[in-house]
Amino acid sequence: MIEVKNLTKKYGDHIAVSNLSFEVKQGQIYGFLGPNGAGKSTTMNIMTGYLSATDGEIIINGHSIFDEPEEAKKHIGYLPELPPLYMDMTPIEYLKFVAELKKVPEKDIDKMLDDIMKTVKITEVANRLIKNLSKGYKQRVGLAQALVGYPEVLILDEPTVGLDPKQIIEIRDLIKSLGEKHTVILSSHILSEVSAVCDQVMIIAHGQLVANDTPENLSKIIVAYNTLELTVKGDRNNIKGLLDEIEGIDELEVHESLDEGCTDFVIKTAPEVDVREEVFRLMSNANSPILKLALCNMSLEDVFIQLTSDKKWIINKEKKEKKKWFGKKVDREETEDVSDL
Ligand code: ADP
Ligand code: MG
Repeated sequence: MIEVKNLTKKYGDHIAVSNLSFEVKQGQIYGFLGPNGAGKSTTMNIMTGYLSATDGEIIINGHSIFDEPEEAKKHIGYLPELPPLYMDMTPIEYLKFVAELKKVPEKDIDKMLDDIMKTVKITEVANRLIKNLSKGYKQRVGLAQALVGYPEVLILDEPTVGLDPKQIIEIRDLIKSLGEKHTVILSSHILSEVSAVCDQVMIIAHGQLVANDTPENLSKIIVAYNTLELTVKGDRNNIKGLLDEIEGIDELEVHESLDEGCTDFVIKTAPEVDVREEVFRLMSNANSPILKLALCNMSLEDVFIQLTSDKKWIINKEKKEKKKWFGKKVDREETEDVSDL
């Protein structure tokens, strides 16, 4: 349905989107998840034909958004980050105006708008000025605008930003129900929102795709690791050397500790491996007191933070060989590994 191939966007020297590729299939709700500045809006603006790309290709139902924008745009309804509402119009006036812009046949307009206003539940405010509506209702009018012409794909840029908790739930429910008839791509920087609404999650950081999977699979990957947080007092290299000898440790990270004379370690093992007793014995024999030893179950939130932060580790359950490094920063080449999560 939609293919994004090697999309790159530069603003001057700044690379906002870097070699991004993904596919969108019919009938699913996709979440575009990433922190502020990740490149979500830029990607969506390019996909909808509002912004040019530096490089790459976007095909929508067989039509290139760059070469055949009119044809490609017919299949897309777009709710930008800042909805393009005319505050001095009423919703019905505004939606009629949008319908004319989208070249909906005159005879179909009334029925279509009636139906759309029912779907997004704005019928009762149809004749009020948009400027007097609450933020939640303004957002519904924005959604209605995207629905005009019944496009197959809806692209919604941070549709719940700035809404109160009750309005957020209402808009989320509305998006879910829209997902029954449309393919939806929504962006968000809130993980719980995306995992609650979406069938497929694409995590984007620094303009690159770092994960593309179902929320369930993303959770499984997390369960596939045990994380042990350890703070030990004593000679860092000596302690590191001892930990290196423990069988079953897949990854060992070393960090400065806030406690004086101590080092923080993050140890990753397979879920069935528990190295706590061995760590205790080794540290005890070395006369290095353990100030903290905690087994943490990672949440989806943790994985998101890890995937989208500068300091990354490799999460790849296929990679069986041991990887150990000492305070090593993973470079871009290696972080590519996380894309096949
Ligand atoms: P997101 O929507 O994920 O928050 P954006 O796509 O808005 O991210 O921005 C991606 C990056 O591109 C950011 O670093 C942002 O500062 C930069 N950027 C966005 N728009 C422009 C612009 N018009 N000119 C220059 N830089 C921009
Ligand atoms: Mg944005």
